[in-house]
Amino acid sequence: MKTSEQLFEKAKTLIPGGVNSPVRAFRAVGGNPVFIKSAKGPYLFDEDGNRYIELINSWGPMVLGHAFEPVEEAVREAIQHSFSFGAPTRKEVEMAELITDMVPSVEMVRMVNSGTEATMAAIRVARGFTGRDKLIKFEGCYHGHADSFLIAAGSGAITMGTPDSPGVTKATALDTLTAPFNDLYAVERLIDANANQIAAIILEPVVGNMGCVLPEPGFLQGLRDLCDKNDILLIFDEVMTGFRLAKGGAQERFGIRPDLTTMGKIIGGGMPVGAYGGRRDIMSIVSPAGPVYQAGTLSGNPIAMSAGLAMLRHLNNHPEVYTRLEELGTRLTDGIRASMVKLGLDFTINHLGSMYTLFMTERPVSNFVDAKTSDLPLFGRYFQAMLKRGVYLAPSQFESLFLSVALTDELIDQVIWANEEALKEVI
Ligand SMILES: *Cc1c(COP(=O)(O)O)cnc(C)c1O
Repeated sequence: MKTSEQLFEKAKTLIPGGVNSPVRAFRAVGGNPVFIKSAKGPYLFDEDGNRYIELINSWGPMVLGHAFEPVEEAVREAIQHSFSFGAPTRKEVEMAELITDMVPSVEMVRMVNSGTEATMAAIRVARGFTGRDKLIKFEGCYHGHADSFLIAAGSGAITMGTPDSPGVTKATALDTLTAPFNDLYAVERLIDANANQIAAIILEPVVGNMGCVLPEPGFLQGLRDLCDKNDILLIFDEVMTGFRLAKGGAQERFGIRPDLTTMGKIIGGGMPVGAYGGRRDIMSIVSPAGPVYQAGTLSGNPIAMSAGLAMLRHLNNHPEVYTRLEELGTRLTDGIRASMVKLGLDFTINHLGSMYTLFMTERPVSNFVDAKTSDLPLFGRYFQAMLKRGVYLAPSQFESLFLSVALTDELIDQVIWANEEALKEVI
């Protein structure tokens, strides 16, 4: 029996489903999850001595590759001065300054410990600021596991077949209205039917959590206009896209200024970090400056701040990282398309920068209903065929993949080759 199998058997007796986050259990693709022992640059190494080319990168944070030296060094330096104070530090000021510099719509920012905390707090602030209770989210968008968002949630929640979770009260669910992504008309109707009751519209400006789905031209601007017209706050959840699609995230790329932004993943350089921020007048109502309560014992933790600062400083000072991410993404998706032409396949690839998803459907995917037309058993076989060839993909059709600059052209070509062989095997 492989070490990963042994560990998983034991884990299942101790941890629900054997994992600390559902998608890791491989339920959507079958087989046994791979237990990871270490990672460096573009590679993951498992407990059984296998090496994989890494296309998840911890769901985004490892945009510079694993164990990136400046981040490692920053952490090593920081741990000498103790791990937590629960008191303000210089690094938190530096972090806030850097974030507000890189993401201009963020005039003030509060650090938290996860993306979930960031979105949960942002929505509380939006409700406090507007004095309204309801929010609009989009089917298939994932905003962490706070109650308000587990309504038509993407990602793990789709994969497990429980878009609505037991334990979320009916009253909470009633305050969350949902619309199909890319459907401005549906949003308009919701606003009309709930006049003066909607505090915020929250979305992933480029979705990662139903697979990669792009906003259609005019969609983001249309939301901005609807929000302005109806005094609704526009919240961009840039937990995945922030510092990845551009230095200033999807909002820079598409030229849309949200009122609030939530961040996570890359912002901690691999440490558990999140943040939310935005307009000064809105953020000024957060405790202790204002009445909306939000706190955190480990928020702004000095080790996490050191890792995140080293990461963001590198990204801020090296614009060529973004050029390179574009090149890698284009090379890979062009290669996959060429293979499909060769094999007579016409599956849909959605791609922007260093994010992409190959959907096992011929239908264009611009919302969750489209994404669900994918052949999931086929995806499961494809995933296993890729794993066998040493490529570690996200173990669900409803996830984006995330490239890092540690990948080389040669490694991308290996992935293209593996992809072609895997498709040949499973079709
Ligand atoms: C991952 C993710 C979250 C939740 O972040 P956690 O750190 O897992 O709590 C929220 N929003 C989006 C868009 C995400 O991708």
